[in-house]
Amino acid sequence: MKPNLFGLDRAALGELLAGLRQPAYRAGQIHLWLYRRRALSIAEMTDLTKELRASLAATHDLRWPDVVERGHSRDGTIKYLFRLDDGATVESVYIPEERRRTICISTQAGCPLKCAFCLTGISGYRRNLKTWEILGQVATVMHEAPREPKPWNVVVMGMGEPLLNYDDTVAALRVIMDPEGFAVAAKKLTLSTVGILPALEKLMQEPVRPNLAISLHAPTRELRRELMPIEDRYDIRDVIAAAQRYPIPRGGAVTYEYVLLGGVNDRPEHARALVRLLGGSRGKVNLIPLNPAPEIPFAPPTREAIDEFCRILSASRVTVSVRRPRGQDILAACGQLHLKRGEAPVPVPAAP
Ligand code: SAH
Repeated sequence: MKPNLFGLDRAALGELLAGLRQPAYRAGQIHLWLYRRRALSIAEMTDLTKELRASLAATHDLRWPDVVERGHSRDGTIKYLFRLDDGATVESVYIPEERRRTICISTQAGCPLKCAFCLTGISGYRRNLKTWEILGQVATVMHEAPREPKPWNVVVMGMGEPLLNYDDTVAALRVIMDPEGFAVAAKKLTLSTVGILPALEKLMQEPVRPNLAISLHAPTRELRRELMPIEDRYDIRDVIAAAQRYPIPRGGAVTYEYVLLGGVNDRPEHARALVRLLGGSRGKVNLIPLNPAPEIPFAPPTREAIDEFCRILSASRVTVSVRRPRGQDILAACGQLHLKRGEAPVPVPAAP
């Protein structure tokens, strides 16, 4: 198989074209074809000379990851299953809403973090995705969606921990936000993380940064450690402090995600402890009632528990919302994406 043109950034395209003794502006033209216009072949790039198209095609392919399955939910959500060159599979989700549409993308095949309530972690870990494999999810979903004047949102909330695949994830995010790429505004691109601190610090230094969501899920270190082994490594209080320093794009806000597990972290005392933990931090709390699956050893919260939890947060002037599950009937909802049967997980690498 030839190397893929899709996934190369401006710098890499520039180098490739310099090698072909082409003027520098050609890199910009190809960038537009690959990501803004989502060309499906090199032949389509009609503002390049025939000769240039031929020499590019001689050394490179242009391809997106293969879609092997599309699952359609009753609510309009579509779950995409991609099979990658080495047989690993990843999922992405298209979520149409009234005024916008959202693409949820994966950055790893599986996930090494093993959060107790998340099917992705329970099913195991394969590997980091390459830049083109991340961008290919966005390209495929945008390409197949109906042409509508609704803005796109992209959330990095699919399989995997994006900050454990820093370089390829950030390279992909740059193209997603690039006005001559997928042109998604920074405030409409949200990266969700458990808070891998060194990588979060690095992300703050990037010239363009996405909006930030932190997976909190417990109001104390003790409870969080039981649910999320990563707490042993990075103290949630340090993660919140870092999130508070994170330069949020204009119009965005830090979101603290909190999965409500019936009887485990959804009681009034947990809500009060959460208020104390956040201690007036800017940002908002997004409550996510557990999306159940047979393999997940927890139950969803009751309606009353959700309401009471919300009430306590609002009374303390914490901005709070409850996430509506989308695509639950096709296992496309948060925490329900997972490696497929028969796919061998690999040993978990150490976090940085
Ligand atoms: N690793 C990153 C990116 C994945 S985001 C992170 O954890 O932030 C996936 C989101 O779905 C997280 O907020 C996660 O906690 C939530 N989630 C996981 N399992 C879930 C479940 N069973 N029900 C509802 N939400 C879940």
